[in-house]
Amino acid sequence: MRSKIVAGNWKMNKNGEQTKELLRALSGGFPETEAEVMVAPTFVNLTNAVFQLKNSPIEVIAQNMHYAENGAYTGEISADMLQNIGVNTVILGHSERRAYFGETDELLAKKVTTALNHSLRVMFCFGEELEDRKADNHFKVVESQLKNALFSLDAAKWSNIVLAYEPVWAIGTGETASPEQAQEMHAFIRKTITEAYDETIANKVSILYGGSVKPANANEIFSKPDVDGGLIGGAALKADDFKAIINAI
Ligand code: PEP
Repeated sequence: MRSKIVAGNWKMNKNGEQTKELLRALSGGFPETEAEVMVAPTFVNLTNAVFQLKNSPIEVIAQNMHYAENGAYTGEISADMLQNIGVNTVILGHSERRAYFGETDELLAKKVTTALNHSLRVMFCFGEELEDRKADNHFKVVESQLKNALFSLDAAKWSNIVLAYEPVWAIGTGETASPEQAQEMHAFIRKTITEAYDETIANKVSILYGGSVKPANANEIFSKPDVDGGLIGGAALKADDFKAIINAI
């Protein structure tokens, strides 16, 4: 059985006080669910969030990390630093990191390797741009993103990977992939992993959908057989919306 997961990526939102408040609001009347629920506040608020959620089912995860163990990388955060404060999962490859900070598949392959070597769980994001979809290149793009960043990994490492398919044209735009488009791509991703590894790995990996998931559309998207949950941006910043999305799974 694959894990169902709902994760909130808070991006560069919420200062310390606001983080505390949102976590308080989320924890009150927290939905009964078998899904794993995660939130990714900014780096400076991770320690406090871990402390605040100590006895909570909500896991605190990081939005990024550097591939090096340590050293002269001003402004960066290492895998060890995350683990040391009790963070065990890291988002890597978000399209905003790729677009605004020049993160390439090659760089991401290094980050993924470092994270997994530290036994961090990796939530690996990928997805095509609008032009790719319009040109009917979306399957090729997704396949190459997976191949370049993940397919050199030993099979055993896949137990610590979660995938998040996020078509770039659907992130923060209000435009969601239809449930059918999501299912079609998720099934393609599983087929691609089966070809690169085997069916067991492909069937075990959780594949989340991300891109303008809201309380109004979550149910339909999550009902698709290859969609194992969601990575949520905007709607994760409102406790009621995020809880409604958790309820939808
Ligand atoms: C995201 O940034 O990962 C995301 C899915 O954002 P939104 O839900 O706002 O589209």
